[in-house]
Amino acid sequence: MAGSSAPVGVLALQGDFREHIAVLRGLGADAIPVRRPTELSEVSGLIIPGGESSVMDKLSRMFGLAEPLKAAIASGLPVWGTCAGLIMLADRVLDAIDGQESFGGLDIAVRRNAFGSQLDSFETELDIPVVGEPSLHAVFIRAPVVESVGVGVTTLASLHDGRVVAVEQGNLLGTSFHPEMTGDTRFHEYFLGKVAAAA
Ligand code: GLN
Repeated sequence: MAGSSAPVGVLALQGDFREHIAVLRGLGADAIPVRRPTELSEVSGLIIPGGESSVMDKLSRMFGLAEPLKAAIASGLPVWGTCAGLIMLADRVLDAIDGQESFGGLDIAVRRNAFGSQLDSFETELDIPVVGEPSLHAVFIRAPVVESVGVGVTTLASLHDGRVVAVEQGNLLGTSFHPEMTGDTRFHEYFLGKVAAAA
């Protein structure tokens, strides 16, 4: 939050990082784009935005960020992945392209583009106890779903049919949807709370 020492980072290799930075700054947080290992080492938390996970994977390896980011995740840095970012945090990725890797950390399996071409993008209301009432309007864009969760993983939100779309495990948070697009800042506030608690 404003006045705290280290900024919060948003991985800015690709995707909708600008929207996350705008929401964080709107909440009074010091937010910076992260493209280099030196920038990663300065932040107190990191958001991995939506975009295209196979491209983000390639760019993160090309920019030398993949290994430092895996180490940061393992050492307890609070990290929140939205949509493609959720895929990047998953230990197991289903329907990945050939050779696609993730950073991992969340003991889950996610399926990319899980809603298929019939229902590429949609919006719905989700009940999410950790952010409170009322239900949160959620935007899904070629979204992944969480197909299985390990024992240490908490499910934060599910669709009406039971499919899991938000999870938390220790320092890590993942959502299939895009809270940066709706003007409802409760999920960003929840993440900033985790960052403050870890500091
Ligand atoms: N389908 C994209 C992927 O596989 C994710 C889409 C998104 O982030 N909105 O990475």
